[in-house]
Amino acid sequence: MITFDTNYKQILTNACLHCRDPYFLPANPTFIHAGCCSYSPVLGLFEIYQMIKDGNREYFINTIYNHKAATIKPYEIIIHANVHPQFDQLSLNHLSHIEKADIRLQYSVCQFFEPQKGCGLPGNYKNTTCRSFICLSVEDQLDEQRKSQLKKWNTLIYQEVKTFVKQHRKALQSFGMNLQTDVQSVLNYLEVEGSKN
Ligand code: SF4
Ligand code: SF4
Repeated sequence: MITFDTNYKQILTNACLHCRDPYFLPANPTFIHAGCCSYSPVLGLFEIYQMIKDGNREYFINTIYNHKAATIKPYEIIIHANVHPQFDQLSLNHLSHIEKADIRLQYSVCQFFEPQKGCGLPGNYKNTTCRSFICLSVEDQLDEQRKSQLKKWNTLIYQEVKTFVKQHRKALQSFGMNLQTDVQSVLNYLEVEGSKN
């Protein structure tokens, strides 16, 4: 039911081909059914380094940094999901921030989601959440051995990224470089220092 793709360090399940998780159902059956790809991915230093390592600096600038839905933070970039215009017609003022966010998900589709295909990003450019997330309806069907395996895979995925980000964020901060003010310097830094762990 679930497998680990060692090439891209990602957890996969064929359940996604016929996603039935109730939490991720779209608000309207005519909307694109993206399942948990209704999410707004946050790409950080680790994912940016993967692009630079592949010689894809131009791809990073054009597809991620200059994306129309990007919010550039000092050391990460949020690509906000596409939200169906019907969401803005709802009256949600009485709801909490979390309740509104849950409803918003039902109207959202990740900018990289491709119907009938899935994620349009290369596997090594996907962030930890995208490479590790498995919904409860799939997880609940796993036996104890598989659940324990799932935890180990999660640790593997997160540890590598956490260590990388901690080290390089600290270094970039000490040089006064960040993605908001000096993106090319950050990319130059990652190109040279990213492989030194
Ligand atoms: S992980 Fe679950 S919610 Fe996400 S696409 Fe697969 S089946 Fe759907
Ligand atoms: S980046 Fe890919 S895996 Fe992640 S939410 Fe978007 S389409 Fe899904």
